[in-house]
Amino acid sequence: MDKNTILNALKQVKYPGFSRDIVSFGLVRNISLRGEGADVILSVSTSDPSLPDHLRNAAHAALHNAGLDTASINIAIESHPLPATTQNTANADTPPPIEGVRCLIAVASGKGGVGKSTIAVNLACALARELTARKRPAQTGLLDCDIYGPSVPLMFGLHTRPDIEGDVLIPLERFGVKVMSLGFLIDEDAPVIWRGPMVMKTIRQFTSKVAWGNLDVLVADLPPGTGDAPLSLAQAAKIDGAIIVTTPQTSAATVARRGAALFDRVGVPLLGVVENMSYMETATAGRRAIFGSGGGAETARATGTEFLGQVPFDEVVREGSDNGVPCVISHPNSPASAIFTKIAQRVLEKVAIV
Ligand code: ADP
Repeated sequence: MDKNTILNALKQVKYPGFSRDIVSFGLVRNISLRGEGADVILSVSTSDPSLPDHLRNAAHAALHNAGLDTASINIAIESHPLPATTQNTANADTPPPIEGVRCLIAVASGKGGVGKSTIAVNLACALARELTARKRPAQTGLLDCDIYGPSVPLMFGLHTRPDIEGDVLIPLERFGVKVMSLGFLIDEDAPVIWRGPMVMKTIRQFTSKVAWGNLDVLVADLPPGTGDAPLSLAQAAKIDGAIIVTTPQTSAATVARRGAALFDRVGVPLLGVVENMSYMETATAGRRAIFGSGGGAETARATGTEFLGQVPFDEVVREGSDNGVPCVISHPNSPASAIFTKIAQRVLEKVAIV
């Protein structure tokens, strides 16, 4: 029995709900050989009490499959429960905040196409305007972690590449927001097959090797769904809160809940739910709920968090994204912009930036 054989066997154990294995996620804290046997220590941060047993069983099965004598391998799990609804939870296993960043907020959705990036982009612009109005010296940032389809450069009208000093990326800046996106670093036409380990690597680079300066708030646009990125980000940097974006269909709420559960698992508090494309204002028939109704409220209720607001389905929102000037900037007095401002104000209140 040697450490490498054990480690290789443990690479077969997937973190529940993810395609990534527990070794690449850094959960194997120690392996020490002891005579004919070995002691393995796994370390997890979770508010899910069933996870330690699940991991122990899965690890035993993987070691057994690798032909190791599991009776002589002792697996200890250091489990650090994290209350999911408490802000700024101090915990030894919570990674440090990104240097200079006071508050990191993740924007996530259960599935693609619900307008998550649109919400992240307009929220960042609304936060920047709000913080500027309050004469706060620190800035706002936007980190586009949507590695599968980074749309932030397009939505911000940014087409240049960031400078690199040594191994540190210098974020681009527009509308008072400092922006970093994978979209800056890849060829737009190149197909991106972003493999699991690269997700972690990129997110680590984005959290440790970007010259953000002093930011009051950094908004992170995560890829849709329950893939590796939320967990990778949660392990790379302290996330102060997550916002879930959903559409109004009640069927969307089920998917959104799944996305929200992920944050609970990694001990990130939910700040609230934003419902997008909630209604369309028409001249003749008033408000029309073209995509159904109830999804946002249902998601907020089911996840025990706040319903932050309903963003209308509006041409100015779509045009803003397509033209590279988010509607909060291009149409600051539109009903949609008013809602983004209200959501930004509430978010600042919730993370205690006044
Ligand atoms: P996701 O990030 O969830 O995949 P996007 O933010 O890229 O979704 O939005 C998908 C499309 O829907 C974009 O073309 C965007 O302009 C449009 N869109 C998003 N929200 C709205 C809205 N409230 N009103 C009109 N169009 C919207």
